[in-house]
Amino acid sequence: MSGITIHKKDIKKGLSLPVMEHFFSIQGEGFHSGKAFYFIRIAGCDVGCSWCDVKESWEIENHPVYDIHQILKFITNSKVNRVVITGGEPLMYYLDPLCIKLAKKGILTHIETSGSHPISGIWDWFTLSPKKRKLPNEESYQKANELKIIISRLNDLKFAESQASKVSKDCKLFLQPEWSKSHLILPIIIKYVKDNPKWNISLQIHKFMNIL
Ligand code: SF4
Repeated sequence: MSGITIHKKDIKKGLSLPVMEHFFSIQGEGFHSGKAFYFIRIAGCDVGCSWCDVKESWEIENHPVYDIHQILKFITNSKVNRVVITGGEPLMYYLDPLCIKLAKKGILTHIETSGSHPISGIWDWFTLSPKKRKLPNEESYQKANELKIIISRLNDLKFAESQASKVSKDCKLFLQPEWSKSHLILPIIIKYVKDNPKWNISLQIHKFMNIL
């Protein structure tokens, strides 16, 4: 019997979660770029972006399952009291139990999500990164503190505008070049942001620093 089968009930209740990797690093994207965070990359994603740079996260069975006490310990053993929960697609799971534990320890909770699943958890910062293959739900647009659109071709700028029209007026807006096409698309994004200054550029600075 696989680990995932044994843990199925606990995963459903949000008491255990499959984790592809966890590490202490620098946030490289978006509004909180440059700050140290602990990162929990939850395994499993049903969105399937062709340019995904963490395809190895998609298959849940390939990754260990940790109970949320262990996950909490990873973070409290680090030097920061803030965590980014990312994936995969973290909202495939019920995240209330984990977030309640984090809040009790005074840990700030950030999430990065496609917004394509119902929201669970309690979030100090909600980064919405919509994907064309599986659009966000209404609740996610309302909740977003930050909208991050990956740009791999010109046409994605139209998608970015359509998504920006759905978030609140306080939501921070970011365009991020798709890494493998960055050299081609970045000049277009730079011009677009100069013409449309409500947008900001997000650059995945962790990749320039050659860190996780
Ligand atoms: S939503 Fe994120 S993890 Fe899932 S396929 Fe797209 S880029 Fe990859």
